[in-house]
Amino acid sequence: MPPLLLQNAWGQPPWQIDFSPAQQPLPKSVDFAIIGGGFTGLAAAAWLRLLAPEKSVAVLEAGRIGAGASGRTGGMVLAESAAGDLPGLGDVLAGLTRILGELGGASGISLLENCELALPGAWEIARKGGIARSAISWNDSGTLRVVNEVPGGTVNPGKLVEGLARAADRLRAVIVEQARVERVDWGAEAELMFAGGKLRAGKILFATNSLSLDLSGLSDRAHPKLTLAASTAPLGEEQLEAIGLSQRKPFYTVDFPYLWGRVCRDNSIVWGAGLVGPADSGSVEQIDIAAEEPSRMFASLERRIRQLRPGLEKLNFTHRWGGPILFRDSWTPVFDRHPASSSGIVLGAFAGHGVALSVYLGAWAAEIMLGRRDLPEWGRIA
Ligand SMILES: Cc1cc2nc3c(=O)[nH]c(=O)nc-3n(C[C@H](O)[C@H](O)[C@H](O)COP(=O)(O)OP(=O)(O)OC[C@H]3O[C@@H](n4cnc5c(N)ncnc54)[C@H](O)[C@@H]3O)c2cc1C
Repeated sequence: MPPLLLQNAWGQPPWQIDFSPAQQPLPKSVDFAIIGGGFTGLAAAAWLRLLAPEKSVAVLEAGRIGAGASGRTGGMVLAESAAGDLPGLGDVLAGLTRILGELGGASGISLLENCELALPGAWEIARKGGIARSAISWNDSGTLRVVNEVPGGTVNPGKLVEGLARAADRLRAVIVEQARVERVDWGAEAELMFAGGKLRAGKILFATNSLSLDLSGLSDRAHPKLTLAASTAPLGEEQLEAIGLSQRKPFYTVDFPYLWGRVCRDNSIVWGAGLVGPADSGSVEQIDIAAEEPSRMFASLERRIRQLRPGLEKLNFTHRWGGPILFRDSWTPVFDRHPASSSGIVLGAFAGHGVALSVYLGAWAAEIMLGRRDLPEWGRIA
C-alpha cells in the first residue's frame, strides 16, 4: 500500500491551517467514530456534539486535518450540487451560514467571520452568449464572457478547516491525526483498526472522499482524480478592475476548456483547470504533481491565464498544488449506508462542488446518526 497523503507530492496551497488538536488519550469505545478530518468529517463531529453532548465522538484522520481536498480546495462556495438541485436538498448556502453561525456560537468562535465567508454571487462564464456589460471579456479559445450569475461566493479554505476543527475540539469531540484507518471489523459493535490502535464505535461516518475507496465501499462505484490549482501573487486593485474581477465574484466555465477561479482577500487569484487520473486504477495518493503530465498541465494553465488579457503576460504564479476529488457518473454525491453494514454511513463524491455541500451534508449525516433524519434517495450507492 502506498504511503497515504504524500503531501509534498501534491504541492502546497498558499494558506495555512493554524490548528492542531490537543493530543489526548483515545477512549476504547465511542458512540460515533468519523473517518476523515476534512470539511465533511469535522462538520459532522462538531454538529454531533452540539446536538447530543452526552454522546462521545472521535475523528480519525490519516494525515493532518484538511490534508485531503478541504485544505487544498479552490474555495468557491457554490449552491446546490454538481448535479444541480436535488429533491429535498434544501438551501445549501443558507444551511452553511446557519451551521457555521450555530457552531461558532456554541464554541465561542467567530467562525463565520474567521473563515472569510462572502456570498456576493458567482459567475458562470462561456465562449458563446454573454450578458450585457459582462465584466469579463477574456481570450481563451474564443471570448469568455459572463453568461449567468448564480448564488455563491468564497471562503478561506484553511480558515474553514481550522474553524470547524476548533469548534469540534471545543465541543469536546476527540480529533486524532496520523491515524489512518486500515480496516473496519463489523460485529455487534464495529471495530476500527488504525495505525497505532483500535476503537470500537456504535456508528461510523466514512468521510474519506476520494481516498480509501475499499474502506468506504466505493471502489468501482466512483472515479478518483487529482485536480490542479495554481495561485498568483497579489494584484493591484487597478489590475483586478482591468480584468473584470474587482467585484470578487468567483467564476467557472460552463463549456470547455474548463477554467475556474476566485480572488482571495489579499488580491491574489486562485485558478484551476485539469484533472489527473491515477495509473492503472490505483490511488490518487500515487500522483506527484511534479511528474510530466501534471507539469505540462500547470504550464498550459499558466500560459492560458497570462494570455487572457493584455497586462497579464507577466503574472507571477507563486503556488501550484493538487487535491483529490471524487466523481460519480450521475454527478450526485454519495450519501448512503455502508454496503457492509447499516451502522456505517458513507458521504462524499461532491465532485468540484463540495465546499458548502460537505459542511451542509456533514451536519445532515450527524442528524441521521442520531436517528433524527432520513437519508435522501439521490445519495444511494448502488
Ligand atoms: C483543487 C481542488 C479545488 C476544489 N475547488 C472547489 C471549489 O472551488 N468549490 C467547491 O465547492 N468544491 C471544490 N472542490 C471540492 C471540495 O474541496 C471537496 O468536495 C470537499 O473539500 C470534500 O471534503 P471532504 O471532507 O468530503 O473530503 P476531504 O477533504 O478529501 O477529506 C477526506 C479526509 O479523509 C482522510 N482519510 C482518507 N482515508 C482515510 C483513512 N483510511 N483513515 C483516516 N482518514 C482518512 C483524508 O486524509 C482527508 O483528510 C475542490 C477540490 C479540489 C481538490
